[in-house]
Amino acid sequence: MTDIQDLLARRKSEQRRIRMLLDARKSEDQAKLKGGEDAVAWVKEEQCIGCDQCTIVCDDDAIELYDTPLASPILNIEVNRKAKVLRDPCTGCQLCVLACPTDAILMIDR
Ligand code: SF4
Ligand code: SF4
Repeated sequence: MTDIQDLLARRKSEQRRIRMLLDARKSEDQAKLKGGEDAVAWVKEEQCIGCDQCTIVCDDDAIELYDTPLASPILNIEVNRKAKVLRDPCTGCQLCVLACPTDAILMIDR
C-alpha cells in the first residue's frame, strides 16, 4: 500500500516536472514575442479582467487601470477595471504579456 511519504515524494517530483515544462513553454513563448524599443504593449480591452497583475510586474509605471461600466447585466458590480498601456514609458520588456492570466496583452509595433 502507498504510504503518505511515497505520496509526498511523488507529488514533489510531479511538481518539478510541471515546473520544468512551464518554464520551457514560457521561454518559447517569450522568444516568439516582439520586444525592445521598437515594440509597445497593447491591451485587448474585451479580454482584460482588471486583475492588476500587469501593473504589479511593470517596473516602468507604463500601465494604468481605469474604471469602466461592467458589460454583463447578470453581475451586480457597478464598475469594472481595465488596464491601459502608456506608450511613452513602455520599454517593450514583455513582462506584462507573460503575467496576464487572460492573454489580454499583445506586443505591437511602436
Ligand atoms: S494582467 Fe491582463 S487581465 Fe489583468 S489587468 Fe492586466 S491586462 Fe487586464
Ligand atoms: S512591456 Fe514592459 S514596460 Fe511595457 S507595459 Fe509591459 S511590463 Fe510595462
